Amino acid sequence: MTEPVLKIENLEVDFGGFKAVDGFNMSIKKGEIRVLIGANGAGKTTLMDLITSKTRVTGGRVLFKGRDITNWQEHDIARAGIGRKFQVPSLFKELTLRDNLEVASSEQVSVWRNVFVRPGKQENGHRINEVLDLVGLREEAENTAGNLSHGQAQWLELGMILMQEPELVLLDEPTAGMTGHETQKTSQIINNLKGSHTIIVVEHDMIFVRSICEKITVMHLGKNLAEGNVAEIENNPLVVEAYLGSSGIGHA
Ligand code: ATP
Repeated sequence: MTEPVLKIENLEVDFGGFKAVDGFNMSIKKGEIRVLIGANGAGKTTLMDLITSKTRVTGGRVLFKGRDITNWQEHDIARAGIGRKFQVPSLFKELTLRDNLEVASSEQVSVWRNVFVRPGKQENGHRINEVLDLVGLREEAENTAGNLSHGQAQWLELGMILMQEPELVLLDEPTAGMTGHETQKTSQIINNLKGSHTIIVVEHDMIFVRSICEKITVMHLGKNLAEGNVAEIENNPLVVEAYLGSSGIGHA
């Protein structure tokens, strides 16, 4: 059996007596798109913060490709190959999309890559076109990023993360604030990445979740409550119960 890309073992964070993540376990295989759902306050964002060391772990371990990366420095985790997209994109608004992607690749954090396999201009141009195609922005390549719509700005930021060739991508609510059409396009983009990329998506919109994923993990009170495909999750009595009191799983 191949080793999981990410393995989370009994992870815990204690905020002065309150455990927002409390003995959480999860394992992600290479090429998988895993969606993480859970009611407000379940601990999803905190879990992403623990994986990337934005918040310090107080118990348990995070293993990335078999290596214990628990509480490493944030930049070392990025360098090891975990890319994270936040809800607010950090783009260079005055630069073209192509130049934004160029900057992202020159920020490539692996010293080894920079020194030994730093791509030539042509090779980099090829990679930029590839990424522009992946995120559906090839036609906008020479436009300035400041003119992009909300959805396009999100896709460009995803492209900037892909330029760094992370082995695991974390996406926190990628469709937040998007129109229905933009959400659909985001689903296409994520489906394009299926197989070639390993992705964890935190998401609330179940229509979108249905369109992108095979396996869902449900988080509740900092724990892994259930795992399974969409039908298994929607029919799981524990999950239904966990969502009682919120507006239901459809608005997770
Ligand atoms: P949402 O879907 O609303 O974004 P979530 O599942 O991402 O929710 P978190 O943001 O991870 O939930 O929060 C989990 C719980 O931990 C919440 O009760 C939150 O108030 C609490 N929490 C988060 N960060 C801290 C902190 N630094 N100190 C104390 N409590 C915190």
